[in-house]
Amino acid sequence: MAIPTQDAMQSQAYCPSCKALIPQVDVALMPANRYIGTVPGCWWLFGTVQARHMADPALRSLRTLTTNVYMVQHPGVPERQAVQSVAVHLMGIYWEIIQHRPERQVLALMQLAAQREYRWLDPPPTLGPLTIADLASICELAPDHPAQSELPAAEHQALAWRWAETTWQAWEQYHATVADWARNIQA
Ligand SMILES: [Zn+2]
Repeated sequence: MAIPTQDAMQSQAYCPSCKALIPQVDVALMPANRYIGTVPGCWWLFGTVQARHMADPALRSLRTLTTNVYMVQHPGVPERQAVQSVAVHLMGIYWEIIQHRPERQVLALMQLAAQREYRWLDPPPTLGPLTIADLASICELAPDHPAQSELPAAEHQALAWRWAETTWQAWEQYHATVADWARNIQA
């Protein structure tokens, strides 16, 4: 993954979707995902967090949850892929933090869920107080916190769960819809 240059990291901006404070990353080096509503600097933070989690066996099981939460904080615009993405990732969060299913079950259910069609959920005006920048700030690769690599796994887990819970709460107006969709998949 391309690391932002020193110059780029000194000039920061906010992600237009999740409102995280993000480093400016050269678009040519770090193209954002082509349909979710993210920008290169925010996507770079997400990669940083994923790399930290994957490097630690105690944190690998957070991968699905952090992906789901990141995606619903970057819902994009109402076109088919984004419609499906928001629906399936919200269900993923529901299965994990409300139903407390293990990650492998959540993944299997999400695969089933992706085969159905959903309607666009117009995103709430704010998507929660925590962002990927909060997770990145306690990761060793975070540009502003290079020395904080020795935090125990429990702190990473607790923060990831708080991020998931607060983001899920931000989508409160759709909880019943998402739970209905999820029940249909399980049936
Ligand atoms: Zn963002």
